Amino acid sequence: MSAEILEIVSTLPIPEYLSGEVQSKLAYVDEAILQAQVTPGGERIRLSLAAAPDSEQRSRLEDKVQRVVASMVKGAIKLKVQVLEDHLDRPVPYALDPMEALLARKEVNPEAVGIFAVGPLLSRLIQFFEGLFLELADSFDAAPYRFPTLIPARYLERVNYFRAFPHSLSFVTHLRTDLDAIDHFAQHAACDEHGLNEPLTSFAGIETLLSPAVCYHLYFALADQPLPGGQVVATAVGTCFRYEAINLTSLERLWNFTMREVIFVGAKDFVLQSREIARQRMAAVFEKIGLAYRVESANDPFFIGEFRKQAAFQSAFQLKFEIRARLPFKESTLAVGSYNYHQDFFGRQLNITLPDGSPAHTGCVAFGLERMAFAFLAQYGLEPSGWPEFVRQALA
Ligand code: AMP
Ligand code: ZN
Repeated sequence: MSAEILEIVSTLPIPEYLSGEVQSKLAYVDEAILQAQVTPGGERIRLSLAAAPDSEQRSRLEDKVQRVVASMVKGAIKLKVQVLEDHLDRPVPYALDPMEALLARKEVNPEAVGIFAVGPLLSRLIQFFEGLFLELADSFDAAPYRFPTLIPARYLERVNYFRAFPHSLSFVTHLRTDLDAIDHFAQHAACDEHGLNEPLTSFAGIETLLSPAVCYHLYFALADQPLPGGQVVATAVGTCFRYEAINLTSLERLWNFTMREVIFVGAKDFVLQSREIARQRMAAVFEKIGLAYRVESANDPFFIGEFRKQAAFQSAFQLKFEIRARLPFKESTLAVGSYNYHQDFFGRQLNITLPDGSPAHTGCVAFGLERMAFAFLAQYGLEPSGWPEFVRQALA
């Protein structure tokens, strides 16, 4: 079945610098959208739909698309990209999309959209990168933690997550603790093209979600008390979940992925200095593994209503820098990690206090393990003989 194309003329032209952000938000506009694209020049939006829309559906789609555009474009200013390191021209030997070879070798098994099982090659590579990130954590004497994959809804509520990132949340429920509901499910549950056929009334209300980040769990463990010793450095690895709709493609963008974080809590200077030291230490590590990348200012993918204000705020206060690895096969870059500073946001929201009674500042260094492995393979290929000596020896 070929897709139907619907082109919408944007009431406001979408500037080049916003085109990627607008495009990624269009994924959440309507379930009928299979693909969304801002045309070069930013005058039109091209939607691929499963079927031709009737006039009512068409005007509903147009209205929603224009709302996204208006909310993101009106009053937007081009944020200055600050580049802290640029090693994008580091020579790398490979130029193909590693996904094809990974699929062909059964090195990845796509279980569903955004959900992949990975095999020995990727697992070993991920373990190798994990070792490097753990060395970074050790260099700060970071205390190890293990956090749950689930997170209480009231935790996320307390840090305004629902308002900032509603689109990417993943909810968890279970059958109501009711014999009839459980019996009904046991006897009738089956999957069709829409998923499980069980009525929603069989399920308990949602009190829990799948965790979207690692460091939040630390801040909650420290909440409502003075910060022990006036500063804390911790590290943990965890499975994180962000639903990215039709943006979920290959190993680049997953619903279910793994993050290693090194987390700093304390006075402003301590957090900012630690973030900077971490960046410098990682620069030496990335040189050893031959990664072509650059570190540049960035913003989190806030939902449309919050986007403009929050992104400008992050940019003005230099709160987020991303490690963007080169993907030669598509002449673009992919964030494999980030250096973050949250000011005293979590300290204030969660009442974590410094010895002088003021709210603690927090920051984290976060690495996406699947993306790190994917970007490395995109630059060096699947054959270890083509890898830098340092990586080859470590994996031998
Ligand atoms: P962030 O907290 O958004 O800066 O995320 C930290 C790192 O996690 C990113 O730099 C990515 O490497 C990784 N990451 C974030 N979202 C995804 C995703 N949907 N799929 C795979 N990796 C991700
Ligand atoms: Zn974090």
